[in-house]
Amino acid sequence: MSEKQLMRRLRRITAVIVLISIVLLLGGGFITSALGRVQQDTMKTQMTAEAEEYKTNVLRKMDADMQTLQTLASFFQFSYTINAIDEDAFAEGLYESNNFIQMGYFTNRGEGIRVTINQNIEKDVRVEDLDEPLRKIVEDAWGGESSVSRIYYDTSLKKKVFAYAIPIYEGNELTGALVANDEIAAFREILDDKTAMNGYGYIHMIGKEGNFLIRSKNKVVDEDLDSIFEGNYLSDYEKDRIRKAMDADESVFSEFVYEGVSYEIYLEPVGLNGWYLFCVDTMQGINAPIYQMIKVTRIIFVGVLLLCIFLLVYGYRMMRKNHRQLIRFAYYDSLTGAYNTVRFLQEMKDALAGPERYTVGVMNIHQFKFINEIFGRKQADKLLCHIKNVLAESLEPGELFCRDSGDVFWVLLKGQDQTVLRQRLEQIMDSISRFALNQHHTYQILLYCGAAIRRDNSTAEMMMTHAMFALQTAKGKDRNNVWFYDTELHKQETLQNYIESHMYQALQDGEFAMFLQPKINLKTGKLGGAEALVRWLKKDGDMIYPNQFIPLFESNGFCARLDMYMVEQVCRRIRKWIDEGIEPIPISVNQSKLLFYEEDYVESLCRLIEKYRIPARLITLEILEGLAIGNVEELNNRISSLQEKGFRISMDDFGSGYSSFNTLGKLKIDELKLDRVFLIEITNEKENRQRIIMEQVVDLTKRLKISTVVEGVETRENEVLIQSFGCDYGQGYYYSRPVSADEFEEKFLKKGDRFW
Ligand code: C2E
Ligand code: MG
Ligand code: MG
Repeated sequence: MSEKQLMRRLRRITAVIVLISIVLLLGGGFITSALGRVQQDTMKTQMTAEAEEYKTNVLRKMDADMQTLQTLASFFQFSYTINAIDEDAFAEGLYESNNFIQMGYFTNRGEGIRVTINQNIEKDVRVEDLDEPLRKIVEDAWGGESSVSRIYYDTSLKKKVFAYAIPIYEGNELTGALVANDEIAAFREILDDKTAMNGYGYIHMIGKEGNFLIRSKNKVVDEDLDSIFEGNYLSDYEKDRIRKAMDADESVFSEFVYEGVSYEIYLEPVGLNGWYLFCVDTMQGINAPIYQMIKVTRIIFVGVLLLCIFLLVYGYRMMRKNHRQLIRFAYYDSLTGAYNTVRFLQEMKDALAGPERYTVGVMNIHQFKFINEIFGRKQADKLLCHIKNVLAESLEPGELFCRDSGDVFWVLLKGQDQTVLRQRLEQIMDSISRFALNQHHTYQILLYCGAAIRRDNSTAEMMMTHAMFALQTAKGKDRNNVWFYDTELHKQETLQNYIESHMYQALQDGEFAMFLQPKINLKTGKLGGAEALVRWLKKDGDMIYPNQFIPLFESNGFCARLDMYMVEQVCRRIRKWIDEGIEPIPISVNQSKLLFYEEDYVESLCRLIEKYRIPARLITLEILEGLAIGNVEELNNRISSLQEKGFRISMDDFGSGYSSFNTLGKLKIDELKLDRVFLIEITNEKENRQRIIMEQVVDLTKRLKISTVVEGVETRENEVLIQSFGCDYGQGYYYSRPVSADEFEEKFLKKGDRFW
């Protein structure tokens, strides 16, 4: 999963969790507000119901008082004049009536008698001297109306009271008004009821202006206030609402805040003198269960929400951490911390998608294995880290590098100017070379580099393959060098691709043809044998030479199959000659290392010669000296077992590599083929060193009873020279180029002897 994909996934998860959180939040909000609403509705219903009940109680009490007053009226004989009234009987009436604290009778002439609960009787009281609220209801009663006064301060009683007044008739004639005072405490009993609103509230009685008529003891606001509008408990807005409602004699819900707690209130008109019941709900303030429940619900939802957020943040961080680690494993080289090839390729593709022109380079260190062995792994690792640092410092923004396996580093550089790029790459390599592996050694670190400039729309993979190809070419040069992938390399690469993808089919289709090149007996001048050389004849008529595909086949293992195929071709041809009565000649076949050490190699060869009924001595197996490196004994064993079966063994290309007399002396071969470099060097060299060596080699082989073949005889002079050394056979263009088996047969076997 790329970083972008992960980020996308993380974003999706985050969105889901945020969504869940929002749902939780909304759900929590909805549930708690629904609960709150239910609670408020219940509370409002309860407040209205209770206010109604208290109102009824208040009115009922007033009704009862009124009734008492009416009953009293019927007991007395009232008259137009006060003098006619029996004072004692009047006072007696007051004592019998329980609640009133003062009673009075006022004739419609304005005279009055007043008696108080403590038996104080005033006879000549004038209506105009009465307190205004009392006078008003007396006058109402004279008008025939029973009424209740507002609460007022009575100057004679010296306390806050209210009064009732009823008209008194003598026959059908209205003679005066009977009044009675009652203390407001009479209502207090009702309003101080502790069970108001199930104990979660209390009720005041207020007058039309909001002034407290009776203030319940159970109040939450402690301050001494005269009116509900005093202080800042009610907001201006609420005050305004309440005033409007009171003016219209309507009930109203409102709220006030005291010490940070909000209280719901309800105002219900009593229906008398503009009085109101002022109900306060204290449920919220005293942590009623429902509020507790709402609170707990809220806390749970907020808790779950916080948990979600915590899990989200925690999970997110864990995932990022894990991802970073995975990314490090997946995209970074653990030793140097540089990108690995996977990441490099990804980034390179992104870069190539843009308008910038790029060139890719691949670098390798000469003999890195050797550095590892001599200086130790630790030093070699340091060198690799040094390379990483140099690259990191040398690249410009938008350029990339990575470490492939081992000592292979890739760079992606901007630009396509070969001169500039070569300069930059050489500079990088020179900086790397300055690394000191060891203070005492002055080991020169050398690098080589292949580079591929992006052509047309070549892909990242193609560019990297091309750079690798160029790297192969750069290898083996003795100084830090850069090789650019060009048309020549392109041809080689195309050919290699063709070879690798077509080899099996070609073998099946018989595209590998056997060519033969004669070996001439230098003493007789006659044909002494031939060497089978493979040619790939493509269907389109083109021919591919062994040098172009044998190295590749050797590395991919196909060579063993091809060699066996060639041996079979040789056998078939010899069989043909025998069958046609042609004297067969011995034929040499080149054998690769892989095949030579195959376990059933000898058996396979034997099976072939048996199949074609060929004497083994007609087959010479050409091997390379390299086979002997490190295991001369094993090679000799294999040679012996082949010789036992009758095969002859020839060592090919002697002198072309690191040939040694020592190895030569130890190997039990039948024939030695001197590489054509001997002849080339002898011809070029002014001194005679090479000639002496060749003489010595031939001399040695003679003594070891090994016959000699000289390759690359191109001129009569070459022939004379090798004859003078006493070599046995010559092979080369002087006699003939390798030709098809049919041509060879025609030319050399049917037509006869010396014809070159
Ligand atoms: P080689 O076995 O040393 O074969 C001799 C090569 O030298 C042949 O090249 C031949 O054409 C070339 N040659 C012969 N006379 C002259 C001359 O006078 N002047 C010059 N300049 N060259 C001469 P060829 O056929 O291209 O083969 C190259 C190499 O490929 C062979 O070298 C051999 O190592 C390998 N090879 C060829 N056929 C086979 C095969 O069937 N199996 C294996 N394993 N290797 C093969
Ligand atoms: Mg050969
Ligand atoms: Mg050779």
